Amino acid sequence: VNILAIESSCDETAASVVCNGREMLSNVISSQIDLHTLYGGVVPEIASRKHIEKINQVIEEALREAGMTLDNIDAIGVTYGPGLVGALLVGVAEAKAIAYAKNLPLVGVHHIEGHISANYIENKNLEPPFICLVVSGGHTHLVCVKDYGKYDIIGRTRDDAAGEAFDKVARAIGLGYPGGPKIDKLSKEGNPNAIPFPKAHMDDAPYDFSFSGLKSSVLNYINACEMKHVEYNRADIAASFQKAVIDVLVENTMKAVDRYDMNRFAIAGGVASNSSLRAAMEVACAERGVQFFHPSPILCTDNAAMIGAAAYYEYMAGTRHGLDLNAVPNLKLGER
Ligand code: ATP
Ligand code: MG
Ligand code: FE
Repeated sequence: VNILAIESSCDETAASVVCNGREMLSNVISSQIDLHTLYGGVVPEIASRKHIEKINQVIEEALREAGMTLDNIDAIGVTYGPGLVGALLVGVAEAKAIAYAKNLPLVGVHHIEGHISANYIENKNLEPPFICLVVSGGHTHLVCVKDYGKYDIIGRTRDDAAGEAFDKVARAIGLGYPGGPKIDKLSKEGNPNAIPFPKAHMDDAPYDFSFSGLKSSVLNYINACEMKHVEYNRADIAASFQKAVIDVLVENTMKAVDRYDMNRFAIAGGVASNSSLRAAMEVACAERGVQFFHPSPILCTDNAAMIGAAAYYEYMAGTRHGLDLNAVPNLKLGER
């Protein structure tokens, strides 16, 4: 089954051809990052317009790279939520048009199901059940993947997402947007134990996260230094902040892995490409004899191959969407 997948939920216009959910035949990503960097974040109206400009070209390239035409495609997969409504609509409208013109089945995909499914592409032996930590720009979800397409959310952030915290702290120390990769890099020059930033734990919800207190604490630290006219070490702030995030992510996640008695664990989402997070998870999993899975960095951030992988398993389970498919900006994982 060859699926042409389309992703346009935020600031990447992406298309990919994926065979049987696991074999990535092409993966084309047109990123708008340079454009949005000028504004310090994603501007929704600009994102939508740019998607419209790029989408046909990106799809043509994905087909060409796969050595195919639409005649070789068996189904269309598309992200229909969550995300920016205007951005999502571009991909959804395009997918519906192709499905209608070529009389192909249409499969709408949840963006986070896509991030989780990115793991299937390079890890051919990974099968549910497993625990997955989704850490992206808008989500921090601890998920029990019971089966393909079957998810129990066992923990989530109460406030900011992990990626959001990285981006906000990066902005505060003048690193610019997107902050995650820049904090990752600068942290290597800093001391992670230099500043004891707080780590939030919730007694009543051991698998939940909270990052807004940590973010405020970093901002307060910077303000206090500026008031006293003392220089602060940006690399130490980056490293100490990053450590505080990672410690909580690892602790809560491993509690879930132990509690659910799982021997497989995966990470997903943009923050999953963080080198220190990967290293810390690797160690924690090795201590438990748990197999650790993660996508390559290019499959961690937004792409369409992950949507193709997710669409395949939805397709096999019988999911079909009509030409009335709409963008759902606040779509919940596990909803249809
Ligand atoms: P969502 O998937 O929740 O809708 P999104 O699609 O915007 O949000 P992703 O593309 O999955 O998010 O990830 C982008 C986020 O990942 C940004 O917040 C970015 O700073 C963060 N990120 C990327 N690389 C790294 C890294 N090496 N270390 C930490 N964070 C990173
Ligand atoms: Mg993005
Ligand atoms: Fe994403």
